[in-house]
Amino acid sequence: MYKLGILEGDDIGLEVVPECVKVMKAAAAKAGLQIEWQPLPIGKRGHESHGHTMPQYTVDALQHVDGWLQGPIGHNAYPRDDPTWINPPLRKKFELFANVKPVKSYPNLPSLHKDVDIVFLRETTEGMQSGSVVFAGSGEFQPNDDIAIGMRVVTRKGASRVAREAFEIARTRKRKKVTALHKEPVYRLVCGMFAQECRKMAKNYPDVEFEEVLIDGFALKLVMKPQQYDVVVTTNQFGDIITDEGAGLVGGLGLAPGLVVGERQAMAQATHGSAPDIAGRNIANPYAMIMSGKMLFEWLGRTRDDAKAAAAAALMDAAVDKVIAEAEHLTGDLGGKSGTTQMGEAIAAAL
Ligand code: NAD
Repeated sequence: MYKLGILEGDDIGLEVVPECVKVMKAAAAKAGLQIEWQPLPIGKRGHESHGHTMPQYTVDALQHVDGWLQGPIGHNAYPRDDPTWINPPLRKKFELFANVKPVKSYPNLPSLHKDVDIVFLRETTEGMQSGSVVFAGSGEFQPNDDIAIGMRVVTRKGASRVAREAFEIARTRKRKKVTALHKEPVYRLVCGMFAQECRKMAKNYPDVEFEEVLIDGFALKLVMKPQQYDVVVTTNQFGDIITDEGAGLVGGLGLAPGLVVGERQAMAQATHGSAPDIAGRNIANPYAMIMSGKMLFEWLGRTRDDAKAAAAAALMDAAVDKVIAEAEHLTGDLGGKSGTTQMGEAIAAAL
C-alpha cells in the first residue's frame, strides 16, 4: 500500500487536483493498486487552518508519504505577512533533484509540430538558483550600485543523479536515446563537470544512445525539428528555459505535466501556475495535473518495481488518449466546450 499526499494549492489547484485524484483512484482500482490518500493543507488554506502557507504539520506529514500531488501556489492570494516561498524550500528539504517534463503532441490538437514526444529533465537542486545552493546567505550579491554578481554551482552528485534518472527513463521508452545539453566550450568547469558525469553515466547504459548538443544550437534545433529528440537532460537554468519552449511546441501550459523526483519520493506538479484569471469557473484544463499524477504512478512502477503501479499509469495514458482523440469532453483551451469536472469525469469513465 502506498501513501500519497494531496496538496491542492490555490486557485485552479482546487479544481484540477481533485480531478487528478478522481482519475488516479479509478486507475488504481482497475489495476488493483492500494493507496492511502492524505489531504494536506498548503497555500491560502494552509494559512487559514494552520497560520502558515507551508504548515509544519504538512512538512512533517510529507516525510512519511511515498509521493504527493501538488497544485499550483497562487502567490497573489497570500496575506502579506506570510512567507510565500514554498516550492524551492520543499525541493531542498526533500532533495527533489530532477524536474521531469514530458512534451507530447496529439494529432487532433493544435500544435506547432506533430509527432513530438520528448521527456525533458531539468536538474533542480543547484545551478543558478542561488537560494537552494548555499548553506547560508545567498549566491547573489551586489557590491555596489553598478555591479550584481550571481554564481552557478554544479556538483558531481547533482549531475550524476539527474543523468542516471534520464537514462533510466530512456530505457523504458521505444527510442532509448538521451541528449545532454550544455555549453562546455565556454563554461569549461561547470558545464564540463555536467558533461563528464553524463558521459560516465552513458557507459552504464550501452542499450541507450547518447549524444551531446550545445544549448544554444539545441534551442534552434528544437524549434526546427523536435521529432529528433527522445529524452533530454540539462542543468537547472537551461532546463527552466528550454522546457517552456518545449511546452510551447505542443500547445502550451494546459498540456504541460511534470514530476519532481527525489531519491525516495516524488511530487506530481503541473507546469502551470494557479491561473487566478480563470479560477472558480470550472474551465481550467485538468490534463496537465492528471498526467502529472500518471507520472507519479509510472515512477512508483519503475523505482519500486511494481507492475500494478506501472499498469495504473498505462491505463491513465490510454484513457487520456481516448478522451483527446474523441474530442467530445475537452476544455475550451483545447477547442472543446466541456468544463474541468466534465473532462476529468470523461477520463475516469474511459478507465
Ligand atoms: P499561470 O500559469 O497561472 O497562467 C498563465 C496563463 O495560462 C493564464 O492566462 C491562465 O489562465 C492560463 N492557464 C494556466 N493554467 C491553465 C490551465 N490548466 N487551463 C487553462 N488555462 C490555463 O501563470 P501566471 O498567471 O504567471 O501566475 C499566476 C499565479 O501562479 C502567480 O501567483 C504565480 O506566482 C503562480 N505560479 C505558481 C506556480 C507553481 O506553484 N508551480 C508556477 C507558476 C506560477
